[in-house]
Amino acid sequence: MEVRGLVITCPRKVEEWTLSVPLAVSSEVGVRIELCGLCTPEQRVYRGAKPTYPYWGGHELSGTIVSLPDDVPDGLRVGDRVAVLLMRRCGQCRACRLGLDNHCAYLNPKARGGVPQGPGGLANFVGVPAYQVFSVPSFLAPERAALVEPVACVARGINRARAKAGDTVAVIGGGTMGLLHSILLTTKGCDVYLFDDDVATHGPVMSTGAHATGSVHSLSDPKLVEKLTDGWGFDCIFCTRFGVRGIQGAIAAASRGARIVLYQSIPTSDLLSVGANFLHYREIELIGTIAQSADDVRNAIRTIVEHAARFDVLQVNLWPSSNAQEAFEQALDPRVNRVMLDFR
Ligand SMILES: [Zn+2]
Ligand SMILES: [Zn+2]
Repeated sequence: MEVRGLVITCPRKVEEWTLSVPLAVSSEVGVRIELCGLCTPEQRVYRGAKPTYPYWGGHELSGTIVSLPDDVPDGLRVGDRVAVLLMRRCGQCRACRLGLDNHCAYLNPKARGGVPQGPGGLANFVGVPAYQVFSVPSFLAPERAALVEPVACVARGINRARAKAGDTVAVIGGGTMGLLHSILLTTKGCDVYLFDDDVATHGPVMSTGAHATGSVHSLSDPKLVEKLTDGWGFDCIFCTRFGVRGIQGAIAAASRGARIVLYQSIPTSDLLSVGANFLHYREIELIGTIAQSADDVRNAIRTIVEHAARFDVLQVNLWPSSNAQEAFEQALDPRVNRVMLDFR
């Protein structure tokens, strides 16, 4: 089947290609894509920081079902609005069977013959197995449905940290991911403090009901942390930016029994130096988190549907797919939280 896909061919250049993709009509759900967000991997390849050309990106999708497989999956109908996840999960491997399907052994799809590498969501159409399709209510706007994937990633970290109402929480980094953390945590009833060296990020995060506190460096100021947390330290800390420097600050500001979530990707060569006895005595947990499980996706949909207006603070810009070049350029602007390409 032929689809229109947006392919990055070299640094700062994106082209619309007509691509021939195999569609297993009898076993896959066909989805006409409405919107697809430009996330970090797309931005990295486009900027030239990760030169893997040609690259067919896109993994934050919303769309409507246009065809169903012969064996019609329960609860899916033609015309339904859906969020689509492009991560494959086999359902059979040990990780999948333990509910850790974000670690599926067969996660990375094999290279498809004649089609550029990448998840391939930047297209007008996609065919996927039914388990990768998640229905959302028809009244949910496509630009909200396209947030399901990133919100699910954030929800996973928050869940792993066991953050609850009344917790005093620090979010390090006020970019798009910091902002999403702040929306979800304040919605939960946490008292949220943002730390980011860039004061331009403070305003949007404060509009979620969080407090903008200061630079990452100020986390290492015991007097300040004492004042903010009643002398206790932060119950949970989410590190979304500033790498090892942010994590060191998080450890310094952690309460007894604190959970510190390592959300961002960090260069493999960066090592963390930490007093093991400090973690031991204070029962501090360092928690990794990556991507999202199917359960996290269902949680994210619930949160977005129940609290849709809370996501209005995000600066989301839509571009017709014919203006992909301008859209990719704008995605590099940190003031815009999400640029989405519109394939309608
Ligand atoms: Zn993403
Ligand atoms: Zn698996």
